Amino acid sequence: MLQEYLGCIGGAVKMNAGAYGKEMKDIVYSTKYIDYNGNIHELDLAEHEFDYRHSIFSNQSYIILESTLKLKKGNKNEIEAKIKEYANSRKEKQPLDKPSAGSVFKRGDGFIASKLIDECGLKGKQIGGAMISEKHAGFIINDKNATAKDVLDLIEYVKEDVYEKRGKKIELEIEIIGEK
Ligand SMILES: Cc1cc2nc3c(=O)[nH]c(=O)nc-3n(C[C@H](O)[C@H](O)[C@H](O)COP(=O)(O)OP(=O)(O)OC[C@H]3O[C@@H](n4cnc5c(N)ncnc54)[C@H](O)[C@@H]3O)c2cc1C
Repeated sequence: MLQEYLGCIGGAVKMNAGAYGKEMKDIVYSTKYIDYNGNIHELDLAEHEFDYRHSIFSNQSYIILESTLKLKKGNKNEIEAKIKEYANSRKEKQPLDKPSAGSVFKRGDGFIASKLIDECGLKGKQIGGAMISEKHAGFIINDKNATAKDVLDLIEYVKEDVYEKRGKKIELEIEIIGEK
């Protein structure tokens, strides 16, 4: 069964989430947040400092309260068809039947991390219960009761192997919270 994945607007704005050539920065109009002293502020689009998987909230732990999005009016049937097309494409290319944190590594400057990982022969590589997906080399799946340590060890293994074999440093797209 396909796992439902629900994200929240705060997470999407902070990460400037995106896919299929579009990012939050294309639709965000303004955002209200609360600072450490309880004061509420509002940012316009430029003030978000959006970049690839980055926003002003990447460096500041403010709490996003709400965002106003500017959407284009479209044809309902066409929009539904597009949603179906993207959802099917994901189902086809990503291991959505297994728990994961999504794409682990960022797109690099002039290279795609998952392609390099695949070329290094790492699909299916396993440490404990964590495994590089056979379907998409950018995903680490929890194959059988993986611990956070299994996942972090596998991330380190992949980084080192790709650097050794291809001379490229790959960076994390996911955020690691806490310690091993
Ligand atoms: C199967 C799968 C596929 C994915 N595909 C994509 C993809 O195609 N493109 C993409 O960009 N991402 C993708 N992701 C990652 C994730 O969905 C996005 O990064 C999303 O933006 C995170 O939203 P979330 O609600 O899960 O936030 P969380 O993971 O809960 O939070 C993300 C960050 O935002 C912070 N945050 C959350 N809410 C607030 C708030 N109100 N105020 C301030 N900070 C806040 C959190 O502290 C954390 O630092 C995928 C994840 C999975 C599991």
